[in-house]
Amino acid sequence: MERLKEFCERSNLIYLTEKDINAIARRTGKEPAKFVDTLYDYDGCFVKVKDDARKVILDLPVMKSKADTTCVFYENCCTIYSVRPIACRLFPFRVEEETASNGDTLLNIGYNPTCPGIGKGELVDRRKLEKLVSELFLQRTSDINPQLQRMMASGAISANAKVYRTLPGKREKN
Ligand code: SF4
Repeated sequence: MERLKEFCERSNLIYLTEKDINAIARRTGKEPAKFVDTLYDYDGCFVKVKDDARKVILDLPVMKSKADTTCVFYENCCTIYSVRPIACRLFPFRVEEETASNGDTLLNIGYNPTCPGIGKGELVDRRKLEKLVSELFLQRTSDINPQLQRMMASGAISANAKVYRTLPGKREKN
C-alpha cells in the first residue's frame, strides 16, 4: 500500500510497454530492473495473483524516477531519445480509457495540462496522434493478455477473481 500511495502521488507517470523495455535495455545495456518501476519486484511478468487466486493485479511498469522525481534518463535532455518510450512520444497527450455501457473500451485522447507547450506551436496531426494512442493500447494489451490467459488456463486465477490495475488516465474519484 505504501508503494501504491507513492505511485498515485506522482503526476507524470511514464508507462512502459515490453517493447519499450527491450529497446531501452538493448540501447543502454542496462538490466530492466535499473530503470523499470513496478509495485512488486520486477520479474518481467505484469500480472500478479494474490489472495488465493481471488485478486489479479495488473502491475504495469513505469519508468523509474530519480530522487527529484525526474526520469532516470534525463540529464539536461533525454539521453535515450531515439528509443524513448511510446508514452514519451505521445506526451503531453495520453490515453484515457473509459468503459462504455456495452462493456467496450473507449480510448480517449487526454492531455497533461501542466505541459508549458499546450496551445502553442503547430497543430498536431490528428491521425499520427490516433495511431500512437492505438499503438500504445495494443502493445499494453499484448503485454498482458497472453500472461492472463496462461494463468487462467492453468487455474492460477479463480473464475470470480477481481482485477486491479495501474493505468494512466483519469484518477478514480474517492
Ligand atoms: S523523454 Fe526521455 S528523459 Fe523524458 S521521460 Fe521520456 S525517456 Fe525520460
